[in-house]
This record gives sequence, structure tokens and C-alpha cells, in this order.
Amino acid sequence: SNKVFADLPVTVFEAMSQLARDNDAINLGQGFPDDPGPEDIRRTAADAVLNGYNQYPSMMGLPELRQAISTHYAHWHGVQLDPLAEVMVTSGATEALASAILSVVEPGDEVIVFQPVYDSYLPIVRQAGGIPRLVRLEPPHWRITEEALRRVFNAKTKAIVFNNPLNPAAVVYPREDLELLARFCQEFDAVAICDEVWEHVTFDGLSHIPLIAIPGMRDRTIKIGSAGKIFSLTGWKVGFVCAAPKLLRVAAKVHQFLAFTTAPNLQVAVAYGLGKSDDYFLQMRKELARSRDRLAKGLSDIGFPVIRSQGTYFLTVDLSPLGLNETDEAFCKRIVTDYKVAAIPVSAFYEEEPVTSVVRFCFAKNDRTLDTALERLSDAV
Ligand code: PMP
Ligand code: GLN
Repeated sequence: SNKVFADLPVTVFEAMSQLARDNDAINLGQGFPDDPGPEDIRRTAADAVLNGYNQYPSMMGLPELRQAISTHYAHWHGVQLDPLAEVMVTSGATEALASAILSVVEPGDEVIVFQPVYDSYLPIVRQAGGIPRLVRLEPPHWRITEEALRRVFNAKTKAIVFNNPLNPAAVVYPREDLELLARFCQEFDAVAICDEVWEHVTFDGLSHIPLIAIPGMRDRTIKIGSAGKIFSLTGWKVGFVCAAPKLLRVAAKVHQFLAFTTAPNLQVAVAYGLGKSDDYFLQMRKELARSRDRLAKGLSDIGFPVIRSQGTYFLTVDLSPLGLNETDEAFCKRIVTDYKVAAIPVSAFYEEEPVTSVVRFCFAKNDRTLDTALERLSDAV
């Protein structure tokens, strides 16, 4: 049997969505919007299906999409990428992460991973033979400290896997933390694998800063994005890997046997979408921020201590002041059966020493869904 995968549980997102279905609950667990997504982008995909974009595209992605990714990041982040040598299209960020990790990590390499950790990272690090070194981040700020990095970086460090904006904590990391990480990656000659799928989903005027744009990081960073999050079309599974040619070349060798290509019709539509005006992206942030505020106010009126969300589709609440005497996991199991609202326990994002008092809610839903969930939870505290 496969030692890494055989005993893994079903991911918390799938498990919670199943519980939501079983209980006929409103699903504020797994992160996906309940509106249909931008019509022009969906129409572009439909036209591409009808007009013949249905056979294997180039392994690295359609040239027009690779160009659009390069143009998009130059415009939004001032990062210059050669579309042919430094950009690859993947089947979602999940595949991008696997391709990146498997291309960098060799048996015995240490890989620094931050908890809360997105659930796909550790199994892939282990499959590569890597040894995870965990950094535990804590609410309510989840900041990265020099002492924490000093404890884990060493001569065996090969890579870090870093998620920013951070799911589930909803933190958009400031330049100071990124510079600290950059300093350690350079001192210990480590590659930074950066999961930046939430890059466009930031609020209150906060901007995402890609680690690849921090001085010294250009040639040691693998930047990963996802059209699913950029366009609120989470089922599309169109991801991107951006990296210097020497890193991208190896990631492409893994990609060719994990997924090889990605639906060309969706690639056409994503290329179109990435060229949309700044207004589109700013409007999306504004609408999501409005939903965030609606859920945050409702939860806090009920009595839940809400931790401020700076980005992503998620906000978190801290159960510890409530004196409920139950873990986040028990709380989530209870509210899905008793109140018919599903949420995600943040402890699921820890492998050791879990934070057990924080629960994640997805607010990327229409007002009626949020209001009904709030009504149901009105006497939960
Ligand atoms: N990384 C993070 C932090 C995510 O939140 C998600 C999905 N929500 C992914 C990766 C996976 O992205 P994709 O659906 O493009 O595979
Ligand atoms: N990333 C999404 C979330 O955090 C879920 C993706 C998945 O189901 N694997 O909710």
C-alpha cells in the first residue's frame, strides 16, 4: 500500500460538504460562491467549446493564456515574466502545488510549512520524501516571527511552502513579514513555493504583495495562482505556475505526468478574463467585502467574537471567550446537525498542537443565504 496516502482521511472540505448535504444544512464550510460567476467569461468559455477548442492544447498552456498571465502580473504587481520560459498552465492550483513540490523536494530535504496549513501540502511533501518542519501561527494575528523561523531553518532546508493571503486565517501578509521570509530563504538558499490563489481577494484597500517581487526572491520563488479564485469559478481548475526558467523546467517535467494539459476552452476564457479592467477586480473585492461585513455583523450580534478578515472568502470566529467547553470540531459537528449550518474547524489545518478554538465561515454567498444562516444560528451562543 502507499504509505503516504493509504491512511489519510477524506479532506475536511469534502467531509464537511457531505455532512452539510446529509443534514440539509447551509454550507458555509467549503469555499465557493453561490452566484453563477461573471457571465462574459462563462460565455467566452461556451463559445470556445462550440468553436473547436476541445483537443489537447500545448502541455505548457495556450500561448494566449501564458501571455495574458504575464501581462496581468506585470500590470498588477510589476512582476515581469517571460510567457514562454516562466509561465505554465496547470489543472488548478492543487496540481500546480504538487508539480512544484515534487519538482523541488528530494528525499531527506527539509521543507518549512506554516500551520494553519492547506491540506494538500504535507502529503505531497512526504510523497517527495521531504521532511516537514512546522511553524505554528496563532490567532488573532497569525504573524511570522524571526524566532519561529530561526528554530526551523537550517542547512537541510530546501524549500518553504507559503500561503498568502492565508486560508483559513484570512490574513494578507504585510511587506515586513515577506521581507523576513525572503531574508531567511536567501540565507539558507531555499526555494519559496508560494500559494497565492487568493491574491485578488483582499479587502479594505490592502494589496497582496507577491513574494517573488521582494528583492532577492525573483529566481528562487515559484508563484502559484488559480483562475478559480480570481474569477469566483472554483470548479474550473485552471492554475498557473510562474518561476524562473530553471525552476519552471523541472516543474513542467512533473506536470507532464500529473495532468499534462488543462481544458483549452477554459484557458481561452481565463485569458480573456485576466485582461478585464481594474474596475472588475475592485468591484469584486467590494462586493465580497460587503458580504464579509454582513456575516461579521450578524455573527457578532449573536455574540460570536469575530476575527477581522483581510482577504479570502473566509472569516473566523474565536470560540474561546464563549465558555462553550467544546473544541472547534465538536462545535462544527453540533451546529451542522442542530442548527443546519456547516463551517470548518481551523484545527483541521494543523498537524500538531492545533489551535482548537477557531472556526472558519465562508461569506462568499448571497444575502439571503447569509441571513438564513444567521437566523438559524441566532441562539447558538
Ligand atoms: N490553495 C489554497 C490556499 C486554496 O484555498 C485552494 C482552494 N480553495 C487551493 C490551493 C486549490 O485551488 P484550485 O481549486 O485551483 O486547485
Ligand atoms: N480551498 C477550498 C477551501 O478552503 C476548498 C477546496 C477543496 O475542497 N479542496 O474551502
